[in-house]
Amino acid sequence: MKQEKDKHHGDGISSANAEERLKKILAVIESIESENFGSNIPVCAADSIGQIEAALNNLKTKYEKIINEGQLFQRISENINAGVTLDQVLSLIYDQFKYYIPYDRIGLALLDETGDTVKARWAKSETVETELPIGYSAKMEGSSLQKIIETGAPRIINDLEDYLRKNPQSDSTRKIVAEGVRSSLTCPLISLNKPVGFLFFSSSKKNTYRDIHIEIFYQIARQVSVIVEKGRLYQDLTELNQLKNKFVGIVAHDLRSPLGVLKGFLEILLKGIFGELNEMQRKYLLKMNGVCENMLLLIDDLLDVSAIESGNLKLELMEHDMERFLHESHEYNSILAKSKSIELVLDAEANLPRVVMDKNRITQVVNNLISNAIKYSFPNSKITIVAKKSDEEIAISVQDQGQGIPDHEIPRIFAHFGRGSVKPTGGEKSIGLGLAIVKSIIKSHEGHIWVKSKVGEGSIFSFSIPITGPHKITEKH
Ligand code: ADP
Repeated sequence: MKQEKDKHHGDGISSANAEERLKKILAVIESIESENFGSNIPVCAADSIGQIEAALNNLKTKYEKIINEGQLFQRISENINAGVTLDQVLSLIYDQFKYYIPYDRIGLALLDETGDTVKARWAKSETVETELPIGYSAKMEGSSLQKIIETGAPRIINDLEDYLRKNPQSDSTRKIVAEGVRSSLTCPLISLNKPVGFLFFSSSKKNTYRDIHIEIFYQIARQVSVIVEKGRLYQDLTELNQLKNKFVGIVAHDLRSPLGVLKGFLEILLKGIFGELNEMQRKYLLKMNGVCENMLLLIDDLLDVSAIESGNLKLELMEHDMERFLHESHEYNSILAKSKSIELVLDAEANLPRVVMDKNRITQVVNNLISNAIKYSFPNSKITIVAKKSDEEIAISVQDQGQGIPDHEIPRIFAHFGRGSVKPTGGEKSIGLGLAIVKSIIKSHEGHIWVKSKVGEGSIFSFSIPITGPHKITEKH
C-alpha cells in the first residue's frame, strides 16, 4: 500500500510518468535557452503537468517567432549594409515576411524630387495580375497618400471595394481592386526626416490587417527607406562621376592643343631660329619649356583617367617582338637614369616570345615603372628590368634599390591621386596618377600587377600579361 502511495500524487499523476514528462519539459526549456528549437512536447494529459506542457509549447512558439524575426531583420540589415540592390532586398522581404504578415502582393512607389508625383517602382505578386505597372505615376495632390505623408502613420484599409465606393476618384484603388486586392496596409517611407515613398502590402482577402502588423511594417519600412536613400545617393554619385569624367576630358582636351602650340614655339626659339639667345633668355625659355612638358604630361594622365573611367580605353592589339621592345625601353630610359647617375640594367631571359599587346600602352606602363624607380631612388644606385616567360604569360619586373614603400601604403598607391609618404629624390613632380593608370592598362590586358617592397632596401614592381593577348578581346576577332 505504501508503495502505491509513493507512485501516485494527489492529482493522479504517477511519479515515474511525471519524472519522464518533467525531463521532457526540462529538455524543451534547455532547447529554448540555447535557441535551438525542436518540436513541441506532446501534451499527454489534461493534468497540471499537461497545462505546463501546453503553456511551454505556447511560449516556445512565441519565442521562436521573436528570435526568427530578429534574425530576419538582422539578415536584412546585413544585406542592406552589404550594398545589395533595392530589388534584391524587396524580393527578400517578399519571400521571408510571409510568416509574420499576410500578403499576396508587395509594392513600392517612390516620390519624385519635388514630392509632387508618386511612381510605382517595384511590385511582386504571385496570385494576382499586376494592373499597376512599374512606372505608373500619379499626382500626390488630393490623393489619399497625401494624408499618409501628413500623419506619417501607416494606413490600413480592410475593405477596398467599400473604400472605392466612397472614393470613386481614386484611380490606383480602382486598379488594385481590379487586380483582386481587398485589403491593404500602406506605410510611408521616411529618410532623413523627408518622405521618399510608400510600401504597400496587399491581400486578396478582406479584413487581413490588424494593428499588430503595423510594428513589423514600421521596421521593414525603416530598412527600405535606408536603401531607397542609399540607391538615390549612389545614382547621384554615379551621375556626378560621369559628369566629372566628361568635364575632365573636355577641359584636358581643350588645354592640350594650345599648350602643344606654345611648346612648339618655345622649341623654335630655343633652336635659335629667330636669332641667338643670351644665357639668361635660354635659361628662362628652358624653364618655360619644362613647365609646358609637365603640364602636357599631367593633361595626358587626366585624359587617360577620363578614358579609363568612362570605359573608353581602347587597345590596339598587335603581336610584338618582346626582346626588341625591351631593348628600346632600356635604351630610352637609360638616358633618364644616367641624368640622375643611376645605372639601368636589362636582364631579359633568352628566347622571349612574341606578345600580343597594345605597344604604346605597355610602353607607357614600363616607362612609368622605370621613371618611378628613378624618381624614388638615390644617385649611384642600380635599377634592373627583369623579363621572364612563365607558362602562358610574360612577366616583367622593375627592381630598384630606392627608399622602399611602407606596407600599409601599398593598397593606396594604386588609387587615383594615391601618393605615398616616399618623396622624389631629385625634385621631380608627384601627382599620384601613374600607378592607377598602369593598373588599368594591365587590367585591360587581363594581366596582373603587384609590388614587393622593403623600406630602406627598395621595391620590385612586377606585371604579367598573357602572351596571346587579352582573351575577351581576341575572342571577338
Ligand atoms: P606619383 O609618382 O606621381 O606620385 P604614382 O601613382 O606613380 O604617382 O605613384 C604613387 C606613389 O607610390 C608615389 O607617390 C610614391 O609614394 C609611391 N611609389 C611609386 N613607385 C615607387 C618606387 N619605385 N619606390 C618608392 N615609392 C614608390
